[in-house]
Amino acid sequence: MRPDPFTYHQPKSLAEASSLVAELGDGAAFYAGGTELLLLMKMQLAEYRHLVNLKKIDGLKTIVVRHDRLIVGALATHHDIALSTAVSKHCPSLSRLCGEIANIRVRVAGTIGGNLCFAEPRADPPVLLAALDAVIRLVSAHASRVIPATEFFLGPFETARQPDEILTTIEIPLGTGTASVERMKQGNYSLATAAISRNDCHRVWIGYGGGAPKQLDGTGALLDRDNGCTGEEALFSAVAADIADLEIPSDIEAGEYYRRHLIAVAVKRALASLNGIQNPWAH
Ligand SMILES: Cc1cc2nc3c(=O)[nH]c(=O)nc-3n(C[C@H](O)[C@H](O)[C@H](O)COP(=O)(O)OP(=O)(O)OC[C@H]3O[C@@H](n4cnc5c(N)ncnc54)[C@H](O)[C@@H]3O)c2cc1C
Repeated sequence: MRPDPFTYHQPKSLAEASSLVAELGDGAAFYAGGTELLLLMKMQLAEYRHLVNLKKIDGLKTIVVRHDRLIVGALATHHDIALSTAVSKHCPSLSRLCGEIANIRVRVAGTIGGNLCFAEPRADPPVLLAALDAVIRLVSAHASRVIPATEFFLGPFETARQPDEILTTIEIPLGTGTASVERMKQGNYSLATAAISRNDCHRVWIGYGGGAPKQLDGTGALLDRDNGCTGEEALFSAVAADIADLEIPSDIEAGEYYRRHLIAVAVKRALASLNGIQNPWAH
């Protein structure tokens, strides 16, 4: 199918882009890699009369380390992030994840900002960024604000971003410990994703197509290293009850029982890879 005709705008600044979308209203959308947007338009699931291209705006693709943060520009593609030496040095889990998402055609076009703003409930980066304590910077013609990744995702395809706000950077604090991410993939997307960060304690975040990333509560005191709770099996048993209590959607891709099982496997694998063990639960 072909999308309905639309006007393509090429603003040169954030203020210009944001004002355009504010003026044009519901019929306008920001355009980054287009891997989600154009698909929706071709399938007639979304109708936009105006696409406001963000790619001509300087600086939105930059990846730098500044002060105590790794700053990733929203227009950096998954491929850019996977190849970035700054990311592989300071945040290897993000580097690896971005190198595995989708296929090479999507990775060279699709941006991290587009992934986050689209808020597809099966997306992987939201889960890892929540575990990494990342913050997201949003800029409009009149204001700028920073919001924790954990508060950005409100539900399936729903975020805290206002229509005229542009996601400009994702900022990840450095030196906050190590992290790992594991995804149980079927077809194009993951059925379950688990990300774990370890600093003073282990913090386990999961995604499973049920909306925003979710933190497993048993990870606080129970998983505290001071409690001597460091073996993968002990750590897993601390969150197993949380997994058993989750409300899991059953859909065309996976039933509830299977998806719950995959969440558990993803968490176990993420715990193992955090400790440098190669998939002991692989069979
Ligand atoms: C075949 C296929 C397989 C995939 N597999 C995976 C996978 O395994 N894991 C995974 O996580 N994802 C997967 N994806 C999703 C992929 O990561 C996203 O399609 C991509 O990152 C979206 O980025 P984009 O630049 O193309 O966004 P676009 O399509 O350009 O935009 C998406 C939405 O975000 C808005 N937007 C984009 N950038 C901004 C910005 N900076 N500020 C404000 N709003 C913005 C747009 O208006 C639009 O609503 C897959 C996609 C495809 C097509």
